[in-house]
Amino acid sequence: MTLIRNATVMTCDPQLPSLGLLERAAIRTEGPVITWIGKDLELPPELATGATIDAGGRLVTPGLVDCHTHAIFAGDRADEFAMRAAGATYLEIAAAGGGIRASTGPTRVASDEQLIALLHERLDTTRAAGTTSIEVKTGYDLTVAGELRLLRCIAAAAATSRSRVVPTLLAHLIPAERAADRDAYVRSLCTELIPEAGRARLATSVDVYCDEGAYTLAETRAILEAARAAGLAVRAHVGQFADLGGAELLAEFGGLSADHLEQVSATGITALAAAGVVAVMLPGACVQLRLPVPPVAALRAAGVRLAIGSDLNPGSSYCESLAVPMWLATTHFAMTVEEAWLGVTRHAAAALAIDAGTLTVGGPADLVLWRCTNPADVPYRYGSDLVDQVFSSRG
Ligand SMILES: [Zn+2]
Repeated sequence: MTLIRNATVMTCDPQLPSLGLLERAAIRTEGPVITWIGKDLELPPELATGATIDAGGRLVTPGLVDCHTHAIFAGDRADEFAMRAAGATYLEIAAAGGGIRASTGPTRVASDEQLIALLHERLDTTRAAGTTSIEVKTGYDLTVAGELRLLRCIAAAAATSRSRVVPTLLAHLIPAERAADRDAYVRSLCTELIPEAGRARLATSVDVYCDEGAYTLAETRAILEAARAAGLAVRAHVGQFADLGGAELLAEFGGLSADHLEQVSATGITALAAAGVVAVMLPGACVQLRLPVPPVAALRAAGVRLAIGSDLNPGSSYCESLAVPMWLATTHFAMTVEEAWLGVTRHAAAALAIDAGTLTVGGPADLVLWRCTNPADVPYRYGSDLVDQVFSSRG
């Protein structure tokens, strides 16, 4: 049982306007669920029992939802980061052994135990920063057997984590050793990997990197069709570098989320809005790769829901705290504070199709008590650790 009183509770309840803020409020949880939320003065006396936290007006929010990570990998690419910072080009970094090979090599040779331990460590770090639900994609093995192994390692880490883990099978890139027979490689994804991931219930969705240097639109369509046949939801990395029409295709398939979107046409935005696809903004990678900003104003005007992810990955965004992308979203991307909060709570949960990201009676008891009173403080004071306590429905 947890009872927090005298708090500013951000419910993100869709029935309430904006962020659904309740001032001088109380919230009570029993086991994995929320049993009472409301004005402190209205708390029934029989519920005003047990160990109580006086929040002193500070903020209580839903546990944060990180809807886009590549958090299972081995190997270290800090030297590559330093090279890029010193002005090295993509080719110079690749010649020095950097790029995705610096992750696939160590990931393929790591034991299951090592991969599970590495993921556990990252789940703990992100949880300490307020994230209680987190999507984890595969994609750093790229062989059929290896990607299935990554999914099994994600499941093993999830089973013993206090975070709620949402596993995604990612069709990341064509591995260099299969460049000569890419059609056969894509076929192996569609006829072996995806059906097995669906049959064994190792993933809830399939993600495709639809972009220049990754999968073509035709290949993306084949992979999405295989995902649908396997009973899996679909999402895609779309338009990070070039607009191949992935937004329109994803809308056609009723995708959960279109992620990146630095390059997307007006037609693509209209299609996303009509299909209710969540647009996931990944400002960490956008800034680190010095890419143009996605068309936030046009997405907003079309009524597309905006989520924000950390894009936690070893190459372009080794980010374990959503406060930093919230800051970049509200500054570099010109999103409002309200949009930033919905982006890491309710809208991120919609992108994952999970019951999370809101505080409602009967809903999961995932919440964060912050060391601040104003929702704007979290992105405003982006480098400070403002998390006081994290409460999770998983104990
Ligand atoms: Zn990604």
